[in-house]
Amino acid sequence: MSFVNIRGLSKKFDLVHAVKDFTLSIEKGELVSFLGPSGCGKTTTLRMIAGFVDPTEGEIEIDEKMVVGQGINISTEERNLGMVFQSYAVWPHMTVYQNIAYPLKIKKKSKKEIKSKVEEVVKLVNLQDHIQKYPDQLSGGQQQRVALARALIMEPDVLLLDEPLSNLDAKLRDKMRNEIKSLQKRTGVTIIFVTHDQIEALSMSDRIVVMNFGEIQQVGTPTEIYATPANEFVADFIGKANLLKGTLQRSGEVTIDHTTLSIPVNQPNAALTGDNVTVCYRPEQITIEKRAETNQNQKVGKLIGHTYLGNIIEYVVQVEGVQLKVETSQPLNLSENAEVSLQLPEPIIFS
Ligand code: ATP
Repeated sequence: MSFVNIRGLSKKFDLVHAVKDFTLSIEKGELVSFLGPSGCGKTTTLRMIAGFVDPTEGEIEIDEKMVVGQGINISTEERNLGMVFQSYAVWPHMTVYQNIAYPLKIKKKSKKEIKSKVEEVVKLVNLQDHIQKYPDQLSGGQQQRVALARALIMEPDVLLLDEPLSNLDAKLRDKMRNEIKSLQKRTGVTIIFVTHDQIEALSMSDRIVVMNFGEIQQVGTPTEIYATPANEFVADFIGKANLLKGTLQRSGEVTIDHTTLSIPVNQPNAALTGDNVTVCYRPEQITIEKRAETNQNQKVGKLIGHTYLGNIIEYVVQVEGVQLKVETSQPLNLSENAEVSLQLPEPIIFS
């Protein structure tokens, strides 16, 4: 039995079916992120776990206790969750110490216990030097750490984080990602993390739940999601993808619609012969070089554009009527319209 079990969870608002038949099990100590575009139902799912939104259908169990479903609906307070949102929601009139101590204070814990607990979590989030400061004397990242510490002090079963890093600048976000990940390792807390940022999800998660239009599209480790996307949506949403529509021929090749390009497939799925399929290439998996003797496995293309991105360069290459994006760390030093050779990897095929 997993630590968190969500079964058949749905939420219908008047006009919108925001979450549809969401089923997921989460292990103790896992960091699972809900990833998807705006409006795909991530926050509604998180809010149902938190107890802020009542599901239309389905059930949720945390640590073998039914929190909602089968006629049960226990309050947020009784679910033993920690929560941190995009807006830091720290109290401006309280010091860091008072903010973090607050949940224990309202539980009427002794001063001694409060002091020792605050000292413990303050260390976890690295705020030892700031405990007497007020929030307006802190950076955004420090305020978000106060919110994290306040959520952790109650030793929650599950920490729910809703886009907690989106108000921070890029560098700080990167740092906080590492801090949350190390916090998870050190405390063993189970974390559910909502984000629309694929880098955040890929870099932090043990598993990612990709959602679109209220439905789970794929659940997997970051590597599984990136290397073997379940469908076109996942391939396109996570990382970059060249998606080409065509027909799988009896010969095992895919002929790309309205072009002369045909793509050999090593192990074509015979069941799809004659069907419309989509071929997917990640830009960095295509090898590009100046045109030399082109061997059998290479395609000749024409360079029609490039974008310099610092550590990588993205080239756009026209090949037999198709434009492909190709990424490389090796500059080609060629002008536009120059001929190049492309080595295409084994493609991912979607039916
Ligand atoms: P974002 O990243 O923009 O926060 P999200 O993936 O978290 O998006 P949700 O906030 O869960 O998406 O919203 C899912 C859908 O449900 C949207 O179409 C939204 O407009 C709708 N919705 C959310 N809350 C309500 C509500 N209280 N009443 C009516 N519709 C709602």
